[in-house]
Amino acid sequence: MPEKDDTFEKITTHLITSGFVYPGSEIYGGLSNSWDYGPLGVLLKNHLKDLWLRHFVREIEYNVQIDPAIIMNPKVWEATGHVANFHDPLVDCKYCHSRFRADDLVKEQCPDIDVDGLDQKALNEIVQSGRVVCPKCGKSQFTEIRQFQMMFKTFIGVTEEKSSAVYLRPETAQGIFVNFKNVLRTTRRKLPIGICDIGKAFRNEITPGNFTFRTREFEQMEIEFFFKPGEDEKWFAFYKENCRQFVERLGLRPDHVRFRNHEKEELAFYSSATTDIEYLFPSLGWGELMGIACRGDYDLKRHMEKSSQDLTYLDSETHEKYVPHVVEPSFGLDRLMLALLMDSYEVEKLEDGKDERIVMHLAYELAPYTAAVMPLSNALKEEALEVFRMIHPEFDAIFDTTGSIGKRYRREDAIGTPFCVTYDFDSKNDHMVTIRERDSMKQERVAIDNLADYLHDKMRKDRRL
Ligand code: ATP
Repeated sequence: MPEKDDTFEKITTHLITSGFVYPGSEIYGGLSNSWDYGPLGVLLKNHLKDLWLRHFVREIEYNVQIDPAIIMNPKVWEATGHVANFHDPLVDCKYCHSRFRADDLVKEQCPDIDVDGLDQKALNEIVQSGRVVCPKCGKSQFTEIRQFQMMFKTFIGVTEEKSSAVYLRPETAQGIFVNFKNVLRTTRRKLPIGICDIGKAFRNEITPGNFTFRTREFEQMEIEFFFKPGEDEKWFAFYKENCRQFVERLGLRPDHVRFRNHEKEELAFYSSATTDIEYLFPSLGWGELMGIACRGDYDLKRHMEKSSQDLTYLDSETHEKYVPHVVEPSFGLDRLMLALLMDSYEVEKLEDGKDERIVMHLAYELAPYTAAVMPLSNALKEEALEVFRMIHPEFDAIFDTTGSIGKRYRREDAIGTPFCVTYDFDSKNDHMVTIRERDSMKQERVAIDNLADYLHDKMRKDRRL
């Protein structure tokens, strides 16, 4: 029997014990597949958002950012087809009552079948034919497929009536489409224009799991890029290249990243082309991190029909009037973060051959803390604290006084801190500190007065682009 690959589990355990992620509502026994980010997770997430904003908003001259509401007029979701079509095909095992997505069962157990090309009747026939078995108990008797609405429904106001029903948004994109005219008018920009948004989305997934890979609430970083019809190929290629550069900037191992073009049958009916960027997760295999889709004029046209508003664009130079086409790069922040954490984790054998350390090789600009300041002895605490206070306003830094220096180094390696700054007995006289770098473990003396410049310089040099 091949050994079971438990790398994914090992890393997630490390992430929980070190404080990147906590189980949600833990003191009440948790809530299935709900996760909270701890201080380390939040810092990493913020750095990832900052990098995304820099790469896609600040460095692309056409783009601006907005922040629309999570709860929108329910007509939005009627217009987009989410109310009618945002369903998953659900089946229950009649023996052990475990619940599955029928399409996942067929995908995993019948590799010869193209699941994306099947309608519900055909999918149900396969599930009922005995070709798939319950992954939990091995039996092969399932309920008929039921369609399960994935949008979370809630009510505004005091009464739970149909008329006050609203949904938590299942994607951030629609807040952008409904504001297309507002953004054009108030920014006085012309096409092309990219409108970007980072925010939470909610999906009542039937089979959430694999830690933060699939959850019921997650953050998306999306761009709707509007342009003149006919320029679809140009902007699709532009964003594919930009997304490739972004992934490179994150420092993900290139052989663990692939671009996968959707086959014709897999494409949404309104999309002329879609490419996913996938990451090779340990134990899980390839998983989607993001998608870049050519959406044509589908969304704007649907909103024009449903809202009776004119969302066409008038080109003031050529006097042409048209409904813009759209390319949508859509990143899942939590999945991207999970990929980064998995990618950067290493259990490294040390030179003596006996000892080992856990080290997270995160890009310097993404690591939760840039530096950990530590006194060699508690007698030097006050002086070391001064050094910490000096750099803290400029860098995410941590002050650590507990345990031996060796233990403190290991603790920082395990959360990816690039620099440990030690104040020792010589520091009082020579006004220098010892800086130890995470990956090489090399140490050097640096003047306290130059510490901030030193860190800035190292950060700059570590940048991938
Ligand atoms: P999947 O096929 O994995 O369900 P999707 O194709 O439905 O994903 P999109 O609607 O394209 O996903 O959303 C864009 C991105 O949002 C995905 O690439 C993924 O990174 C992220 N995402 C989608 N659903 C979830 C979820 N339930 N939990 C965490 N991230 C998610």
